[in-house]
Amino acid sequence: MTTKIVNLYGLDRSGLEAMFVEQGLQAFRGRQLMKWLYHQQLTDFAQMTDLPKSMRTWLAENTGLALPVVHSHKVSKDGTCKWLLEVSPGNLVETVLIPERITKDVQDDEVVGHMRNTLCVSSQVGCALDCSFCSTGKQGFNGNLGCADIIGQLLIANQFLAAKGQRVTNIVLMGMGEPLLNFDAVISATNIMMDDLAFGLSKRRVTISTAGVVPGIVRLAETTDVSLAISLHAPFDDLRDQLVPINRKYPIAELLAACRTYVDKLGEKRKLVIEYTLIKGVNDQAEHAEALAGLLRDVRCKINLIPFNPFPGSGYERPGNREIYHFQTLLMRAGYTTMLRTTRGDDIDAACGQLVGRVQDRTKRQSRYLARLKMAPVAVST
Ligand code: SAH
Repeated sequence: MTTKIVNLYGLDRSGLEAMFVEQGLQAFRGRQLMKWLYHQQLTDFAQMTDLPKSMRTWLAENTGLALPVVHSHKVSKDGTCKWLLEVSPGNLVETVLIPERITKDVQDDEVVGHMRNTLCVSSQVGCALDCSFCSTGKQGFNGNLGCADIIGQLLIANQFLAAKGQRVTNIVLMGMGEPLLNFDAVISATNIMMDDLAFGLSKRRVTISTAGVVPGIVRLAETTDVSLAISLHAPFDDLRDQLVPINRKYPIAELLAACRTYVDKLGEKRKLVIEYTLIKGVNDQAEHAEALAGLLRDVRCKINLIPFNPFPGSGYERPGNREIYHFQTLLMRAGYTTMLRTTRGDDIDAACGQLVGRVQDRTKRQSRYLARLKMAPVAVST
């Protein structure tokens, strides 16, 4: 009989503790191991000197530390980096690192002149939700990433940054996939990101973004206090039904009710982020801004406007800068903190909604999309 090898990057603190308890050992061994893995970044069990020798031998025989395989790494002229990572045979996901020098918009304990390194992490291979303006959805879907694949994205980015004496400072689960449809792995991964024995990132700097999976938001409130972003994109149900089809199942009123519960739990000082992709002639008119301002009146939030990033065959366009600023001004006048997300890394297709990876599609969505475009499957560039 072969023993199944456990990938230790797939276990959060309680998982590591439980692993030792199952072996009849004390839970604190899990905490010791966690520090070796993440603070010392050791991969050789023999060097974990405060663990008994028999335990180190057991770890070497029964566990492993596997990272996704780097298929390619590209750097944009604006410094944005994109990795294409193989997580299982034929399935590749993308991870994007967005470095910014902090100028004046200082959040929390950020220091002017320092680097904010935001990592945009994928949670699934493709996406099943098929939002009409997102190219990831057009690739179809082939399942969830494990916690180790999610943590692996962060370890790979940190290895790259370590050479410059830097590390990832902020994480957004805004890459490929819908995080709340991969709940358990995403929660374990965000636990590791926020654990002082591991990456120790503040809960304000780890953000899950959802298209509006209401039961997931309800469960989130019972489980964690990670930051939350909602991909709203429309103030009216009929329009949102078209743009974000999951709205047909969980309409806006239900979504915002779940959001209020979550943000109440976070406490008065924290806010939800409302993401709103501006699409020319679709959701970028004054009536949309006014309705949005009314809708969010009793939700503690700030608004993040994302000008649409085009991709072949989308059928949508980005509004002009005047329209974008006008929309932002209307929301600001209504009293909302409203940020405009600048497009980064579009020369390497690393901008929001442009992440495609390579998906062994089980949903046939990719072939339908490509047939419409009369194109061959997306080639993997190296
Ligand atoms: N499934 C999650 C995570 C994706 S996050 C979610 O929907 O929130 C990526 C963000 O970029 C989402 O707000 C998404 O709606 C937005 N987006 C997708 N495609 C886009 C595009 N082509 N241009 C601009 N924003 C896009």
